[in-house]
Amino acid sequence: MIELTPNESTVLVVDDLHLNRKLQRLYLTEVGYRVVLAEDGIDALHKVKDVLPDLILLDVMMPRMNGFEVCRHIKHNVKTRYIPIIMVTALNEIESKIKGIESGADDFICKPFNKLELLARVKSLLRIKYLNKELQLKVRQLEDAQIELKKLAVTDGLTGAYNYRFFKEQLQKEITRAQRHKSHVSIVMIDIDYFKNYNDTHGHPAGDEVLKTISALLKKNIRNLDVAARYGGEEFVLILIESDKNAASIVARKIKDLVENFKFKAEETQPNGKITVSMGVSTYPDDAQSFGQLVELADERLYKAKNAGRNRVVLT
Ligand code: GH3
Ligand code: MG
Ligand code: MG
Repeated sequence: MIELTPNESTVLVVDDLHLNRKLQRLYLTEVGYRVVLAEDGIDALHKVKDVLPDLILLDVMMPRMNGFEVCRHIKHNVKTRYIPIIMVTALNEIESKIKGIESGADDFICKPFNKLELLARVKSLLRIKYLNKELQLKVRQLEDAQIELKKLAVTDGLTGAYNYRFFKEQLQKEITRAQRHKSHVSIVMIDIDYFKNYNDTHGHPAGDEVLKTISALLKKNIRNLDVAARYGGEEFVLILIESDKNAASIVARKIKDLVENFKFKAEETQPNGKITVSMGVSTYPDDAQSFGQLVELADERLYKAKNAGRNRVVLT
């Protein structure tokens, strides 16, 4: 828990009587509070705006604008409503307290006030204010952590691409959306050619670097709302929204060429002299209607691409 030191807090004392202001200032500064004075309601509102005090000691009976009105103003303003207000009243009247509560006051103290009581009330309200602030901070941290956690739950740890779970969820959503809008959605299944050879020759960590590079390359060459996910070990999948077969083939071929032309470390040891990928494409609604069928077809076409010599895109 935080320990408050008074010199970190500014108290605004509002009272039309000079003697009252002087007395309250004396009590508060003695223990280390910073004190700002205001001599009536209008003056108080200006000081609140300028200083943003941590707490306000507010007299009730004042010319121009009384304490209740000042209180209402402060509690209606989103910037100042969190400042605790202690009403200082000469009358120990129930009616006045009710009016104070209705206008938003947090506590009361009666004149002539007892120094220790004044300090105790100030201290306790400030503590509540700071605990509230701390609580808000923690809530914000918790919200940030939840956002981070949600991101982690759909992200592949090695490559930073989306994971299979997210791919599945998203493709099912996109199929539904395409159905509603009578539009297309395509997927591209991607597998690295002779990747086992690369791993065996250069080691797993070097292979991991290739996976990361390809993942980054995919992400960079699709649109914001498209999805690049790691489907499995060395397989990736793209969801290309509002893309028919032709649009998907353009993206797929472009990426195939980019991988082929990218200079991967020590790639000349690969059977075809470089790192390449094979791809299979399937499109909703032309090829299939369901998640399972789309994936199956794309997979089939990917293996057609492998059998046809690799480093190619198969569309049908
Ligand atoms: P093909 O052209 O037919 O796809 O040949 P291939 O060697 O790529 O296919 P195969 O399925 O036999 O091998 C896949 C290899 O991918 C096996 C494994 O070494 C590698 N692999 C899978 N996951 C990872 C990974 O997370 N990191 C690394 N570095 N390699 C992986
Ligand atoms: Mg494979
Ligand atoms: Mg492979």
